[in-house]
Amino acid sequence: MDTNSTGLVPLHQTSSRKRLDHKQETICIFGTGDFGRSLGMRLLKSGYPVVYGSRDPRNSTLLPSGAQVFSHAEALNTSKIIFLAVHRENYDFISALSDQLDGKVLVDVSNNLKMNQYPESNAQYLSQLVPKTNVVKGFNTVSAWALQSGSLDANSQVFVCGDDNPSKQLVMDVARSISLTPLDQGSLLAAEELENYPLQLFPMWRLPLYITAGLTVFFFLYYVVLQVIYSYVTKNTDQTYRMIISIPNHVFPIVSLILLSLVYLPGVIAAFIQLRRGTKYKRFPDWLDRWMLCRKQLGLVSFAYGFLHVFYSLVKPLRYTHYWKQMNRIVSQVQKNATTELEMKWVWRSDLFYALGILGFFVFCLLGVTSLPSVSNAMNWREFRFVQSKLGHVTLLLCTAHAGVLGWNFFLKSTRYTWGLPPGYMLSMVIPCIVLILKLILITPCVDRMVTRIRQGWERKRKDSSNLKV
Ligand code: NAP
Repeated sequence: MDTNSTGLVPLHQTSSRKRLDHKQETICIFGTGDFGRSLGMRLLKSGYPVVYGSRDPRNSTLLPSGAQVFSHAEALNTSKIIFLAVHRENYDFISALSDQLDGKVLVDVSNNLKMNQYPESNAQYLSQLVPKTNVVKGFNTVSAWALQSGSLDANSQVFVCGDDNPSKQLVMDVARSISLTPLDQGSLLAAEELENYPLQLFPMWRLPLYITAGLTVFFFLYYVVLQVIYSYVTKNTDQTYRMIISIPNHVFPIVSLILLSLVYLPGVIAAFIQLRRGTKYKRFPDWLDRWMLCRKQLGLVSFAYGFLHVFYSLVKPLRYTHYWKQMNRIVSQVQKNATTELEMKWVWRSDLFYALGILGFFVFCLLGVTSLPSVSNAMNWREFRFVQSKLGHVTLLLCTAHAGVLGWNFFLKSTRYTWGLPPGYMLSMVIPCIVLILKLILITPCVDRMVTRIRQGWERKRKDSSNLKV
């Protein structure tokens, strides 16, 4: 076996060798700060000898036991792979080590304070400083805390990118050896994206949360007007207590139903756009792309609101106002010596209303469970589509019917329109009904056949032009 002057195995051989062999390799870390120390601790636990390179080796006292510390130049000679746990602003000292770093693997773990802070990524800047070194970007999405607490407590994914494949494989092997999951992100050009990644704040959740907050505030105020202000103005009664349970229990199901319909609306819009264009090979508008990308988040918020609605509904009979109303009704009937007959119409309405609600929520729970990565990974594409699309539309249908039965035929009665405003549940059904009608059109055999053909690659324009030529 070939070895170089430092007694290390050449890079082209290390990449193809087994994991255990890498554990014997010394790993060098430049920088004895938070990240450097946590990484060193984790590597030592996994059996790697660790050597630190520091500006001030004598005063580096907080290092994990078992590690050695030298000057940068000395530490460099002990290892083929060097982790640079130093901020980009302090990279200048690396240029002086350029010759010694020749052919070695330098791992850039740095992050910035702001997105796109510099014209080029830190990793690209580093590779300009030491052009003959194989720079690999990685580990920047793992925090020092996560490295210390172990993979059970934190996300174990490590994104890695670099122009030299064997070097990248070496870094990925090290990640694997310390129980992390490396994911190859391609060439060093991807470093910019990787550096921006930890600076993003719930990028996929922003739009769903804005929509949810907007709808929640709107419907809460709408019901305050309908139930609190209206009572105060017309009957001079104080109904403010409704803001605690009654009104939220109107708002949660309404917002939940609207959000659920917003999960399926972009899909039907996309199908109609494809039908109109007669091709799938044209990009959708940006707003539709963005909307499609956050459907899972919209669905999860909708599910959370549905869950709240279930809990709020379950406490209804325990409330003092409910108990008080029931008692009053019974006492007044006893005083009048009157009985009310069981009206079958209301029996049907109430049973149907609850049955649809329970079934809708049950199927919604199935949808929620199947969206968990551990469950969805166990399904093939067809099964996943069946659950998310078919069962999703069934959920929407059941929940819309649940709201519809609540409304019954009251929309025909003008007394139900407080100050001319329709009840909230009526508003909540507008988008779901539009989605269900459009979906119904899409699943009619002739339209469905056309959409399927387009999605299999058929193009209307191409066919027309070929006909013209003939
Ligand atoms: P830190 O605690 O401030 O440590 C930085 C280290 O860099 C210092 O301990 C020092 O080590 C060295 N250094 C400082 N000035 C220097 C200079 N002028 N020349 C050469 N070396 C210098 O920072 P950190 O939190 O460990 O972060 C280090 C790198 O890891 C950063 O690029 C950061 O973006 C990245 N990162 C950190 C985390 C995290 O959770 N902390 C997560 C992901 C990525 P010596 O005194 O031994 O020379």
